Amino acid sequence: MSDFINKLIQDNKLQISTDMDKSFGFKVGNKQLGEEPVLIAGPCSIESEDMIVDWSCKLSEVGIDALRAGAYKPCTFPVRKEVNGWKEGLKESGLKFLKTASDKSGLQTVSEIMDLRMLTNEYLDKLDIIQVGTRNFQNYTLLDELGKIDKPIILKRGTWGTLDEILGACERILEGGNNKLAICLRGVIGGPSYRHIFPSTRWMPDLLMIPALKKFTNIPIIYDPSHATGLREFVVPVSKAALAIGADGLIVEVHPDPSKSISDPDQAIGLSELIEIKSFYQ
Ligand code: PEP
Ligand code: MN
Repeated sequence: MSDFINKLIQDNKLQISTDMDKSFGFKVGNKQLGEEPVLIAGPCSIESEDMIVDWSCKLSEVGIDALRAGAYKPCTFPVRKEVNGWKEGLKESGLKFLKTASDKSGLQTVSEIMDLRMLTNEYLDKLDIIQVGTRNFQNYTLLDELGKIDKPIILKRGTWGTLDEILGACERILEGGNNKLAICLRGVIGGPSYRHIFPSTRWMPDLLMIPALKKFTNIPIIYDPSHATGLREFVVPVSKAALAIGADGLIVEVHPDPSKSISDPDQAIGLSELIEIKSFYQ
């Protein structure tokens, strides 16, 4: 693997992401990502104004560093029925509610943007940190544009992405001049034997990629134990493992009534599990 990456560096295909004299990252709340581990948490989806405002205030009391919550949810299958305004997210109104939650709780916001059309102030003003979802991991027109803006970005690994492809995707953003970048590992496609062991786990945890990436880049790495496992019973132990193996932070899905989450109900944890995860930071 090292030879393969070193050849990409020699050929100038990788240049900025692999420069070990450079530092990347940004502030999450009061913490500098990369210097001390951060905890980003929140529901998969923004479900209503009351929900996100109340919940963000409770999460802030636990001492998280930023609030994650999706206003736009890329679903594997089209959602055909709207429920209380939610149809693959609350969309524009969801972002408005997220901003209110941020104002009330004092937490920075992390939320996913779907495409180039969202790179306008109307959207960006409501986000402190942009999340690029798995499905956009190699959307190069989007990554190239994200390189030109001055806003922190969390780039999630595509479920198929190899180490060189992760660095290649980062390189596109860095090439434009934006070095406020973090990589988020969120589980990958598992082999048939893995599915046999955990039939209902959607993705296979990719913990080993944390030290593997750190051999080649200083870009901070955030781990997502929620999508990586897909099942709430594994979220706490995988969070512990990710921090132990060197993650610079976690992004965790946590819901006031986990099994009733409008999206990703199987992997949502509740407040007590979040407090347990927070205890790993001491
Ligand atoms: C999410 O964070 O809610 C999400 C949709 O993640 P991913 O893009 O990793 O599937
Ligand atoms: Mn989710």
